[in-house]
Amino acid sequence: MVRSIQAKGIPPIGYGEGSNKMTVRIDENNMGNMNAKQAEEFFNMVRDDLGLKDFGFGITTAGSICLPDKILIDERDLQYPWHTKHMILHELTHHIAPNAKLHGTRFHMEYANLVLRYLAGVV
Ligand SMILES: [Zn+2]
Repeated sequence: MVRSIQAKGIPPIGYGEGSNKMTVRIDENNMGNMNAKQAEEFFNMVRDDLGLKDFGFGITTAGSICLPDKILIDERDLQYPWHTKHMILHELTHHIAPNAKLHGTRFHMEYANLVLRYLAGVV
């Protein structure tokens, strides 16, 4: 039996016979996922709170990354808010702690501070 789900404004998702995968393009807020606008709003709130006025935000398909002037979040990381916000804070940590050894102890200390400040009791 093949069934489909369709929500307003979102293409139908097929699953059942002949389908062992579900693929969803996340342009809109779907199943509680953050969309690009919501992700940018969270980023802007954190950026402004940290006083990083000229630091930018963008969406990519090439993997989330921190560049010298902005972070790019992969559209595949536009998922549940806890995941997307963690990715944003992760990439921001690379900017805040540029001299920290990549993903080392100091990186994680800075990252944990951001998680405590912007996610604890919020997500
Ligand atoms: Zn990283």
